[in-house]
Amino acid sequence: APPVQAREVGSALEALQRVFGYDSFRGDQQEIIDHLVEGNDALVLMPTGGGKSLCYQIPALVRKGVGVVISPLIALMQDQVDALQALGVRAGFLNSTQDMDERRVVEAQFVAGDLDLLYLAPERLRVESTVRLLERGTVSLFAIDEAHCVSQWGHDFRPDYLMLSGLHERWPDVPRIALTATATQATREEIATRLDLEKARHFVASFDRPNIQYRIEPKSDPKRQLLSLLRSEHAGDAGIVYCLSRASVEKTADWLVENGIEAVPYHAGLDARVRATNQSRFLREDGLVVVATIAFGMGIDKPDVRFVAHLDLPKSVEGYYQETGRAGRDGLPSTAWLAYGLQDVVNLRKMIDTSEGTDDHRRRMRTHLDAMLALCETVECRRVQLLNYFGQTGEPCGNCDTCLTPPESWDGTVAAQKVLSAIWRLQNERRQKFGAGHIVDILLGKKNAKVIQFDHDNLSVFGIGTELSANEWRGVVRQLLAQGLMAVESNYGALVLTDTSGDVLGGRRKVSLRREPERAAPKAGKSSS
Ligand code: ADP
Ligand code: ZN
Repeated sequence: APPVQAREVGSALEALQRVFGYDSFRGDQQEIIDHLVEGNDALVLMPTGGGKSLCYQIPALVRKGVGVVISPLIALMQDQVDALQALGVRAGFLNSTQDMDERRVVEAQFVAGDLDLLYLAPERLRVESTVRLLERGTVSLFAIDEAHCVSQWGHDFRPDYLMLSGLHERWPDVPRIALTATATQATREEIATRLDLEKARHFVASFDRPNIQYRIEPKSDPKRQLLSLLRSEHAGDAGIVYCLSRASVEKTADWLVENGIEAVPYHAGLDARVRATNQSRFLREDGLVVVATIAFGMGIDKPDVRFVAHLDLPKSVEGYYQETGRAGRDGLPSTAWLAYGLQDVVNLRKMIDTSEGTDDHRRRMRTHLDAMLALCETVECRRVQLLNYFGQTGEPCGNCDTCLTPPESWDGTVAAQKVLSAIWRLQNERRQKFGAGHIVDILLGKKNAKVIQFDHDNLSVFGIGTELSANEWRGVVRQLLAQGLMAVESNYGALVLTDTSGDVLGGRRKVSLRREPERAAPKAGKSSS
């Protein structure tokens, strides 16, 4: 490759236009850049696609010395550096994928001041030699990308990020910029504290993505629901379908292909070459659908992703927001669609309860899940709920499912009392616990084999719930879970009472529920098999 020429740039605007080829700054970019160029610290909260990278890349070009970027996205460093070099920016990276020789070359460039930007994986900070290396060159700024990784409250904690305060102590006069796309008020405060950025200026962009239409519907036949969405609204569009497990990624991708949709799978268990091919096809081609686990998408910059579909419930609102945020970066109308059901809640609770780590960690994950459930079951505008979650306000948007077809709410107090007393009878009279399916059967008065085996047709609650359908009862159960009025045990998905159940049973608390849409069977078109 020809040697990359350093570009002489005098001002930020000149860098934007001559190096990056854009006309004008977006949002707060200019202010952030000026602030940093003048040597100040900044904490930047901007949604995915907002244009965070330029906020440190341009100051690094304008200021004397090398801009050091801490990023956990090791797999993307090569691409990022290639893209910068193609623009004539002198960039390099240091991470664990390189051998000693490759590393030496970059280190020498850094020390000689032959770089504008050096990308550094956080694990490099663990070795003392990295600090000694940085001491031998001139650092123009530190950029801390994906800064939420420093937060133990967040969903993506990386212990190496805690070392970053050491850099600040060693280089107190070098300006720092921390950037993230996912931060609630609490996370933001934690980032500021841990990185010693309390006195830094905070730039908080709006998290609203007005062109994304948010829709969340109960899961009945998820693959068919998805197919119907794709056929009726997104024929020939590029999009991402997220599934929880690798197995369901592959099954779903196969099934879409059988049904005439061009789709490829993507998950960490696939061969690296297959993964790379599928990813680059997605970026290059026009209407490809990628079915993926959440391993897919970090740093993917494809402007015309028209839909993001979730076939399983995300673990947190942060994750949901980040994943759906990959839709519509070009500003054109796009869909964020999620199907979720009771089984999702059971599965995720189980994953959390059996996960490794401290009790504290599990408690945090449960809080994240509860917030996600609340978003699913809200009767308010989804966008307003999302914005509130990120500490921002908004007006009902007119572009989400609850705004477009306002869900009816109904007084579900009696229904809730029926479910809760069924659980109470089993738990207290029989010392038994059962999952939702069986409890609904009892309420509906179904004399099936399991009911007869356990003599449950003799319970006083047997058959007291015939006014609702099985589907509606499952909706009631889901919503009671979302409201914390009952809980699900991880081992068998058994429903149990919580501290607040008694208030409902005792008539001290009213329960408002969202009417379950009696969905028409999704328009599935012709099926292949
Ligand atoms: P983020 O890191 O916030 O997700 P990026 O920095 O990757 O966002 O930017 C998203 C996209 O927007 C990129 O394609 C980038 O080149 C483009 N972009 C950023 N700033 C501008 C600008 N001022 N004018 C035009 N395009 C921009
Ligand atoms: Zn809305």
